Parts: sequence; C-alpha cells; structure tokens
Amino acid sequence: MKISVPRGTCDVLPANSYKRAYIENAAREISSLFGYKEIRTPVFEHTELFCRGIGSGSDIVRKEMYTFEDKKGRSLTLRPEGTATVMRAIVENNLCQTGYAKLFYIGPFFRYERPQEGRYRQFHQFGLEAAGVDSPLLDAEIIHAACSFFGKLGLENLTVQLNSLGCPECRPAYREALVSFFESKKDDLCGDCKERLAINPLRVLDCKNAACRAIAADAPVMLDYLCPECSNHFDIVKKALEVYGINYAVNRKIVRGLDYYTRTVFEVVSDQLGAQDAICGGGRYNNLAEEIGGKSIPAVGFAAGIERTAALMEKRGCSFGKEPAPEVFVVPFEESCVMKAAEVLGRLRNSGISSDLTYSKKNIKKIFRDIAEAGADYAYIIGPDEMAAGKISVKSMKDKAQAEINDSEAVEFILKGRC
Ligand code: ATP
Ligand code: MG
Repeated sequence: MKISVPRGTCDVLPANSYKRAYIENAAREISSLFGYKEIRTPVFEHTELFCRGIGSGSDIVRKEMYTFEDKKGRSLTLRPEGTATVMRAIVENNLCQTGYAKLFYIGPFFRYERPQEGRYRQFHQFGLEAAGVDSPLLDAEIIHAACSFFGKLGLENLTVQLNSLGCPECRPAYREALVSFFESKKDDLCGDCKERLAINPLRVLDCKNAACRAIAADAPVMLDYLCPECSNHFDIVKKALEVYGINYAVNRKIVRGLDYYTRTVFEVVSDQLGAQDAICGGGRYNNLAEEIGGKSIPAVGFAAGIERTAALMEKRGCSFGKEPAPEVFVVPFEESCVMKAAEVLGRLRNSGISSDLTYSKKNIKKIFRDIAEAGADYAYIIGPDEMAAGKISVKSMKDKAQAEINDSEAVEFILKGRC
C-alpha cells in the first residue's frame, strides 16, 4: 500500500518552500524592528496547559486537540496555538521579573479540524506576545506590527477589525444579557451553539453558521457594557492606532475563539480568502498567567496564519523574492573530465559562489535545458580540449553567448560579472 501524507497536512516542496522562507524572513525583520526577540517552545505540552489556558469551553479544547498519552501515561497535546505555550515559558523562566518581555515565534501548530481551503490540521503561525505591561499603547503596537508585517509582504488594504471584550468586572453583566437574549431563540441555533450557550455564550457570536449569524446580528454587544477603565483603555488603543496611521473598523461582534481574552481583541481579514477570511487574530489576555498558575501578568499578542498569508499573496500576485538558483553549473563533457569539473566546482563553492554540477548523463541539449530550468546564470563546460588548453567554455544562460576563460579565472569571472 502506498503511504500518503496525513489528511489536513501537506509537503511544502521546493517550488513553494522559498516562498515560506520569504514570509518568515519578513516576520523576523518586523519582529526586530519592533523590538521582539525569538522564543522557541516545544511542539507538545501537558494537556492541562491548554485546558486551563485556552479554556475547557473553547472549540479548540473540546474538539480540535491532538491529545495522546506517552509511555508513562502522561497526557500530552500537540500545541494548537502559541499564546498559552509562550505564557507558560514566561512564567516558568521568570521572563517578566524585572519588567516586561517582548517575544515572537514562528512554527507549526496542530488542530483536528475539517480540512478545506485555508484550514489544515498542521498549519504555521507567526506570532508576537508582549507581556508584563497593561498599557493600551502596547495593544496598538501589536496591531501596528501585524499591519507592518502584511505591508512588508505587499498586502496593503487589509481590514483591521477591533473590539473590546471587557474584563472580569464588566463581562458578567454582559454575559447575562447575552444568555437571556439567546435563550428565547435557542431552538433556531445550531447544535454546537445550543451547547455553547450553556458553556460559553460569547462563542455563539463567533459561529460561522448562517442561521446563528442572523440571530446574533441583533444580540447585545459588549461595548455597551464596558466599565470606565475598559472604556478608557479602548479609547486610548483607538487613538494610538490613529497616531500610527492604521485604518481600523470597530466590529462589535468579534469575540475570538479562545477564552483568555480581556479588553482588546482584533482580527485582520481579507474578502479575498473565502470562508476562511481571518489572516491574523489577537488581543489582550490579562488573566492567562494566573489561569496557568503564575502571578498576574498582563499581556497582549497576535498570531498570523502563514498558509493564509501565502494564499493571499498568491491571489494578489505579490512578490516572493527570487527563487534561489545556483549561479553556475559545471558541465563535465565526458567521464575523463569529471575530476577537473569537481575541482572547479570546489573552488567556486569555497569562494562563496553558489554552484552545482550536472551529475546526470543526459545528452548536452537536455543538460542545457535542465540548467536553464534551474535558473543558473552560467554553464562552465569542461571537455578534453578545454582541459588540455587550461580553459573553460562559458555559456551565458541569459543571452546564450559563449566565451572561453582561463581555468584560473573561474572564480574571478563570476565575481566581476556581479558588479
Ligand atoms: P478561524 O476563525 O479561521 O478558525 P481562529 O480564530 O481559530 O481562526 P486563531 O486561533 O486566532 O484562529 O489563529 C490565528 C490565525 O491562524 C488565523 O487567523 C488563521 O490565519 C490561522 N489559522 C487558524 N487555524 C488554522 C487552520 N486550521 N489552518 C490554517 N490556518 C489557521
Ligand atoms: Mg478556528
């Protein structure tokens, strides 16, 4: 039986992997521009971290986790998101002991979801987390960084949707109002939402079902219930976004799929992505550190989906930079020239010139076609005549011009051509 890739996962082949690297490089540059340093955490954690951190009422914990027992019977889970993991590391390593920590991560995440366009079981995220400060300026900084990341990739004019979910002071009254609103319409909600209503009524606002959306359109909104502190925080976030020149729209219906958010929540969306329109989501989570057993540490962050970012770049025809290609292909004309070709190849590589050798024994026409396809600038052809004369025949793959150089000039020729 042929073994294939697991459902909801894919191989990123060379024709696409350089595009991913391009996006990751942009992520690193933006992180450094905004003062965020990299953190790398394990891809699996104790299951309890996510149950307590993300919340046992969330869809992720209820339905989407890859959970397994190890040989000692410990329950472990492949990380479904980065925030709880990063906060665990911040608490465990006391990273906020003397102030605050600004961290970024890039890596794979795992959710047992129904695979479809833009939704996979292994996907990748780039995320930022700023922990240790409750300043609304940091909420705006996080949103600014997300927009700068997309801008750097050529993705302009995305919509930032902003909302506030209040805090443990003001949310209970809102929750009550929401439950009584939905109770009267319970029969028309989808099966999931009937459950959500009991476990986590805010999640009903996040349902993708059309009937639930229609009902939710008239539901009470958190912004009408904010306490003065939350209201003030929200106002400053909006002002700072204006200072940074970021276009945003208040969307009173955004609640986000995770339980840990307090105050600011936001999503960056595109109408070119079909049903999976969110490319990035984030917000403030002031109570997460305590939920997972640490002291109180206010924090704010975002996570951007790399697959959806790449898909949108493809749709908009954005540049992914140049596909890596060798500058030179060395072509031994026949068997007796292979060692000489290897010697030239070694010299080129030792001088930092990306180069390769034609290992296959195809006819010369096919070899040149392969070299052109690989995107090389030059072919260095070494035959018995060239060897005897201490020469190399050079073929420019761009204009097909042929020339002869001295064997000793193999490196110099390329370096000169670069300037
Ligand atoms: P959605 O509403 O699409 O399910 P989400 O709210 O579950 O998204 P987050 O947990 O906020 O997503 O993750 C941040 C980003 O990661 C999303 O905006 C999206 O771009 C990406 N993402 C989330 N789940 C998946 C997935 N299963 N496959 C691919 N990308 C994903
Ligand atoms: Mg989801």
